[in-house]
Amino acid sequence: MDRDSIMQLIKEINGASAEIQHNQDWVNSSCPLAPWLHESGHDRQPSFGIKAEENEVSRFFCFTCKSSGSVLDLLKLIADYSEDRSLLEQYEPTLTNEEFAGGPLPEWNYTKPVRRSDRIRLVPLGEEYEDLYDPLDFEYRGVSLATAQRIGLGVGGDSRGVSRIVFPVKGLNGELYGHTGRATDPDATPRIRDFHGLRKELLLLGLHTLPKDPPYVVLVEGLFAYAKVLQAGEPVVASMHANLTQHQAQWLIRINRPVVIFYDHDKAGRSGTKIAANRLINHVPVRRVVYPKDTPPKTDPDDLDPRMIRNLIRRAKLICTPPQI
Ligand SMILES: [Zn+2]
Repeated sequence: MDRDSIMQLIKEINGASAEIQHNQDWVNSSCPLAPWLHESGHDRQPSFGIKAEENEVSRFFCFTCKSSGSVLDLLKLIADYSEDRSLLEQYEPTLTNEEFAGGPLPEWNYTKPVRRSDRIRLVPLGEEYEDLYDPLDFEYRGVSLATAQRIGLGVGGDSRGVSRIVFPVKGLNGELYGHTGRATDPDATPRIRDFHGLRKELLLLGLHTLPKDPPYVVLVEGLFAYAKVLQAGEPVVASMHANLTQHQAQWLIRINRPVVIFYDHDKAGRSGTKIAANRLINHVPVRRVVYPKDTPPKTDPDDLDPRMIRNLIRRAKLICTPPQI
């Protein structure tokens, strides 16, 4: 998007009298997401910018809320938060073409922006995001083809050329909210990367593979732990990190079944277990998996065979009082 179009867009968003500054390739103004994502609700300094790129996808970035992505992502966010889709509808036809004519796929990398919890609303992605990746058609890290198919695993390269196994993150009814991908090369950084505006802190991985009325729900940390526990025949979701957020806990509370916490056998896993238990214990029965004494450090469910996984879940210990952190 060229500089003139960006200035025009910012005026449409922030008003005709919006303060606009030019800083090399960047066009800066106040952050249009400030009402929802900035603690103060406004942005007096222009901490937001869109980079002018002739004939290419322009990206935006805000130094305060750390939001970033393509211009189309920005318009989608504004539409979601403001519940006003008019600008998005006005710009989408041109921007959509720009996005998918060989340009990089939109990727947002949130680093914990401040959000007003009452404004949080999840909006599923459109159908065009469903078949972006080639299905994983080989057995990988002990994950069978059948399991890969059930999850919807894909293979794809990100915009930096890193090959990734891509997990779709879907809601209870299969609605798609984004993707998270683990690099196939163990040395690649970052190892895990999120795509298409995935709001990890609001979602659990695996809601779409839960059975209708599960006797309990197993909660794991990692992507492949989820795949392996699912393959062992257990109803499982992953928090995608060791710190279960309040919003993630809400899903489990809504499902209203006992939760079995099966985090990694390391320090992060143990403190994560306490955090998760504290968020859940007043709402649903909570049990935690106890690794056998001779378990090597840093073991996670991904390292265990199916029989061991089922045994540990069956023998999980009930947590009766909120654990001290
Ligand atoms: Zn901002």
